[in-house]
Amino acid sequence: LNRRLTEFGTTIFAEMSALALSTGSINLGQGFPDTDGPEEVREAAVRALREGRGNQYPPGPGIPELRTAVAAHQERRYGLSYDPDTEVLVTAGATEAIAAALLALVEPGDEVIAFEPYYDSYAACIAMAGGTRVPVTLRPHAEEGASFRLDLDELRAAVTDRTRLLLINTPHNPTGTVLTRAELTAIAELAVERDLLVVTDEVYEHLVFDDAEHVPLATFPGMRERTVTIGSSGKTFSFTGWKVGWVTSAPGLVTAVRSAKQYLTYVASGPFQYAVAEALALPESYFTAFRDDMLAKRDLLAAGLAEAGFTVFKPAGTYFITTDIRPLGESDGFAFCRALPERAGVVAIPNAVFYDHREAGAPFVRFAFCKQRAVLQEAVQRLKTLA
Ligand code: PMP
Ligand code: GLN
Repeated sequence: LNRRLTEFGTTIFAEMSALALSTGSINLGQGFPDTDGPEEVREAAVRALREGRGNQYPPGPGIPELRTAVAAHQERRYGLSYDPDTEVLVTAGATEAIAAALLALVEPGDEVIAFEPYYDSYAACIAMAGGTRVPVTLRPHAEEGASFRLDLDELRAAVTDRTRLLLINTPHNPTGTVLTRAELTAIAELAVERDLLVVTDEVYEHLVFDDAEHVPLATFPGMRERTVTIGSSGKTFSFTGWKVGWVTSAPGLVTAVRSAKQYLTYVASGPFQYAVAEALALPESYFTAFRDDMLAKRDLLAAGLAEAGFTVFKPAGTYFITTDIRPLGESDGFAFCRALPERAGVVAIPNAVFYDHREAGAPFVRFAFCKQRAVLQEAVQRLKTLA
């Protein structure tokens, strides 16, 4: 393994899901729903397979039906208009979109700013692109409804002459933070002032709760032409195994991302693209019901974790809850998560893996709540035995 990748080892999701299987534990680690997405969308995939649509290489940029559906979704939801032919690219999940965007846009030695804790593929992809990651730490604020927040001054101070790109993620995995309109305005102003590119991972765009609002960065003045926006059917339609994602951006940036993407996978899976095109056209009631279901599950797990003695950072978005384990007399999230299957039959993720400054993330542990209610209830019962 080359020097760029040795520090990353095996992804925590593979390690923890294997541990869940081998110990028979409830897996609240890796973020995947235990209920598949809509029946009619599955049927659409079966139909495409049977009718021979997409069984051979689909077009490199993605099938026109899906590119059109992605553009229609961005227009309907956010008033963002993209040309399906030149401004939309279908990828093998958001994971490939992130990799292709960084490989296409980062020169060796360029600095890439990402919020820490960050989704683990960010660090590895920045490294594969030869870039240098510059983490800006989101810090816990108990007084602001217990959430992790960005310090805008720290963000501004992190920009140097070598900064090429801001890698943003809102709603944010693993903290559940949703950047506010004011924060996004400041980020956009900084990007314009310092002439930075922005890659924004918005895969949890439909999972936003209470009075939080998801506002795409591309909607801010001066941003559309410098922003690569990433979405995914895995999160929005509960088909994480299908690996269909997409990028929307200005033509020059889409062409750049496609230049990298064509040599990674060439194309994303064919029949599933037809099904996701239909999914994106589902009525608003689908998206509302999906969000309301996750909101109820968030509240169930948040209450249970609090009862079990964790400090809970109630997420405004995503399907993850970050907790602080110190009230349980613990301080090392890694050790805690490695012992948890044995102690309580539950698997969770130590947030420290998402940090460069590991000590800053040491006491935080993430639980996924995209699971059936009975599963969450059982997990809570088990976790209550810890206290
Ligand atoms: N970005 C974030 C923030 C994620 O949590 C995930 C995990 N699903 C991904 C990207 C990857 O998405 P996909 O499964 O579509 O590759
Ligand atoms: N995005 C999911 C999570 O954060 C898992 C993705 C993966 O397994 N790579 O848990």
